Amino acid sequence: MPLRVSSATSLHCGPRACPPDDPARRLAIAGASVTWAAVNDASRPYGLRLPPDPSSGASATSGGMVATNAAGPRSVRYGSVRRWIEALEIVGADGEARTVRRREGRGKRFSLTADGRRLIADHFPKTRKNSSGYALDRFAESGDELDLIVGSEGTLGIVTAVEWRLDAIPPGLAGAALGFTDLAALAEAVPFLVSLNPSAVELLDRTLLRLIPDAPDVACLLLVEFERETAAAARGVVGDAVRGLKHQVAHVETAVDRAGLEQLWEVRRLASPALARLPLSQRSLQVVEDGCVPLEMDRLGAYVAGLRRAAERHGVPVAIFGHAGDGHVHVNALPNTTGPRWRQALEGLFADVTDLLAQLGGVPAGEHGAGRLRAGVLERFYGPQVMGLFRDLKRSYDPLSILNPGVIIPATDWAPLAALKVGEDAAAIPDDIAARLRDMERNAGWATPKPELAR
Ligand SMILES: Cc1cc2nc3c(=O)[nH]c(=O)nc-3n(C[C@H](O)[C@H](O)[C@H](O)COP(=O)(O)OP(=O)(O)OC[C@H]3O[C@@H](n4cnc5c(N)ncnc54)[C@H](O)[C@@H]3O)c2cc1C
Repeated sequence: MPLRVSSATSLHCGPRACPPDDPARRLAIAGASVTWAAVNDASRPYGLRLPPDPSSGASATSGGMVATNAAGPRSVRYGSVRRWIEALEIVGADGEARTVRRREGRGKRFSLTADGRRLIADHFPKTRKNSSGYALDRFAESGDELDLIVGSEGTLGIVTAVEWRLDAIPPGLAGAALGFTDLAALAEAVPFLVSLNPSAVELLDRTLLRLIPDAPDVACLLLVEFERETAAAARGVVGDAVRGLKHQVAHVETAVDRAGLEQLWEVRRLASPALARLPLSQRSLQVVEDGCVPLEMDRLGAYVAGLRRAAERHGVPVAIFGHAGDGHVHVNALPNTTGPRWRQALEGLFADVTDLLAQLGGVPAGEHGAGRLRAGVLERFYGPQVMGLFRDLKRSYDPLSILNPGVIIPATDWAPLAALKVGEDAAAIPDDIAARLRDMERNAGWATPKPELAR
């Protein structure tokens, strides 16, 4: 289904059957394969946008974003995509296609008892973001079946269309890059910046800054962005941010308009490609890449310090960056895949980072989903009884487990790194496809359709 910015009330209408476009209702209907970039390109002429902004937006599809409850830098202010979904068209394990709408109830398949609700209240981690397992906390709160489907990673149904709620693009935009000589500064700086209602607070730590030419020589850099109703208001709050942190910062650059801000953020955009271009002796792997902790009591500082200790212990360097304002950082492990025992070292890092996140009241995935990699550790975070509710939910939608088996509900022979696509144990793929995949990774060409790899 193509994308329409529309007033349509049914997701079943084809383009001709839809009522005329009515952006005043701020709705866009997108087929599952329509990317975040395409939703925004179509919405921009109306002064509208989909506020959560995954960095993979050029390739992230509407179906994939719903399935992972995707988020991004702006989620510190606008939340994950969950908040922006009005309705979904899904096809269930029984082959039935139907529409699931916000505020239309819990559906026929699954409900919670009073005991179940208590378990959820007691055992769900209190992080600002979470895409680890089923969002039973959100379902308990809203009573909407929609909240069960969002973030369920294709394990309860296949999304075929999405009705996105859009928001007006704020006219005023400004921001700053703030460098610190000590990671301990995060304890005060991040909550202070969050209190100013920013639209992004992104962290780049020293390990990553060193890979980026001309990046400031500091222990960590916070990139902060503010959106306001006027340019003057946006500039004003940047001034408040810089004044409030003047005793801690070692490096300050400010931007008062969109072009200036884009220049400041260049360093963030260079992060993923810089990691992807590293040699095999520092192969960038995403195995502990998505942990999220509560912001309270400096748990973000404790998480970053603990990560660095674990990395040192196992001899696996890490690069740390991401959504500090949500207590959520991406951590790329950089093992020497040409040396001995790097797999065991990586397994040790995975185990220690899982322990650290559990101790800090965090979750193993803030926006990428549990997948198969993390399915087997979910019980550490939720306990066996909530995991029992997850199994009940899965059974009630997919009794034969035909939808993404092993995702969220672990397979009986689950092992975290069993499906690693790197190293001697990885499944062999033809040389030409392997070379194109590597090129795609190095050039951040995530939007390349996979069939093109075989041409
Ligand atoms: C460089 C890079 C940066 C990234 N940055 C971010 C970021 O800032 N924020 C963020 O949230 N994520 C990020 N991601 C992760 C990922 O791109 C997003 O979560 C994205 O939303 C996934 O969409 P996709 O179309 O790529 O889905 P895929 O990766 O193809 O699939 C993801 C999951 O969704 C399921 N799925 C896909 N389509 C459907 C469907 N139609 N119905 C049901 N299930 C489906 C799949 O089975 C799978 O389990 C990043 C990834 C990369 C490589």
